[in-house]
Amino acid sequence: MLRQMLLSRRVTAPSFLGKKTGVRRYVNTAAGSGGRRQNQRTATSVLPTTQRKSSGSSSPALMLSTSAAGDVRDTVIIGSGPAGYTAALYTARAQMKPLMIAGFQHGGQLQLTSDVENFPGYAEAVSGPDLMEDLRKQAERFGTEMMYRDVTSVDLSRRPFRVSVRKREFFAKSIIIATGAEAIWLGAEGEEQVKGRGVSTCATCDGAFYEGKEVVVVGGGDSAMEEALFLTKFASKVTIVHRRDGFRSSRIMLERVKDNPKIHLKLHRTVKKWVSEGGDLSGAELEDPRGQDAVELLPCSGAFLAIGHKPMTKFLHSISSSSGGGPAEAKESSSSSVVELDEDGFVVHKQHTMTSVEGVFACGDVVDRRYRQAISAAGMGCQAAIDCERWLAEEEGGGA
Ligand SMILES: Cc1cc2nc3c(=O)[nH]c(=O)nc-3n(C[C@H](O)[C@H](O)[C@H](O)COP(=O)(O)OP(=O)(O)OC[C@H]3O[C@@H](n4cnc5c(N)ncnc54)[C@H](O)[C@@H]3O)c2cc1C
Repeated sequence: MLRQMLLSRRVTAPSFLGKKTGVRRYVNTAAGSGGRRQNQRTATSVLPTTQRKSSGSSSPALMLSTSAAGDVRDTVIIGSGPAGYTAALYTARAQMKPLMIAGFQHGGQLQLTSDVENFPGYAEAVSGPDLMEDLRKQAERFGTEMMYRDVTSVDLSRRPFRVSVRKREFFAKSIIIATGAEAIWLGAEGEEQVKGRGVSTCATCDGAFYEGKEVVVVGGGDSAMEEALFLTKFASKVTIVHRRDGFRSSRIMLERVKDNPKIHLKLHRTVKKWVSEGGDLSGAELEDPRGQDAVELLPCSGAFLAIGHKPMTKFLHSISSSSGGGPAEAKESSSSSVVELDEDGFVVHKQHTMTSVEGVFACGDVVDRRYRQAISAAGMGCQAAIDCERWLAEEEGGGA
């Protein structure tokens, strides 16, 4: 029923719904979403009042109270997860009047989850959308301007930098990138139905729901080993399913896994199909990718995919459609105009939170391949804002 409601509202991603059964529930509404999820409430409750109340012919989401083309912003923040909102809060309080280009799916990954129990400051669990709403309000209270669109490209070869949202262009002395990363899903048969109904991409977030249950971890790198070891705190049995017999993980992690009596290895196996009962995950059909042996059924209540994350950096590769016009003080930048990424596409910090492009900072999951938590993203958002403010003060001769 609810699924139908969501479909009819064209919500493009699945959502978590409650934890009463001990299993987080997503309602999946889009195939191949790549894991970006939206809570059912997102569509209304998180929509800012400015967006809800506005009317008129132009897109309400593009309405900004004070921006005009040609204004040069002290900073433009791209992305509105915990990292972006925290960077906005700090830069706004530093009187930098930030413009946040929040993204079409604003609010970030926590929009997709029901209860968050590990964000400091909330004695009771808080729903992901409510937490993000609090962060947004706090950032707006100090003057952050919001725009609910995706950045399509940036031109970092000149100062001020140019940030494009389709045909609209904004100018900025500095930029803070906070666009997050999305988990890579397997794409196995039946996966869309069990996302959030047993299949998860975050053991730290969801592991505690599997007390005394049998779970599966898919992957062969350090993340998979870490997730498996963490899950032994709750699960009665953890099976690592890996498509080869060689591991990318470090030897020490592999040894720890092998020494743990709760962890079992299923090598040369891939998940062909997720099996469910009453809508919740009940098992995984495994096959040998070498084409040998029959398919086997591995019963499990939970499954954790640890096969990587994809940082959201596409806009950094797009060629800006900038016409070359712009503010009079525009000049060629002397530093690199390319934000350096690592081999998996994560933004690389060069000096504190500054990227390879002077004046461009990055924070949160788009940088972080290790912690990937809301509080670590928020913490890095604070760092990026302080670094940005100090850099700008020095650039403009005022000192920090
Ligand atoms: C289902 C789920 C449950 C989780 N539960 C927990 C939990 O309980 N506790 C916890 O600490 N962590 C949890 N996490 C992890 C946590 O959500 C992330 O670590 C955190 O949200 C990362 O914050 P971020 O600001 O770096 O990025 P994100 O939250 O990913 O936000 C990035 C934002 O940038 C926007 N964006 C992307 N591209 C563009 C663009 N081109 N232009 C403009 N905007 C753009 C996106 O739309 C998004 O709004 C969970 C994650 C998931 C997926």
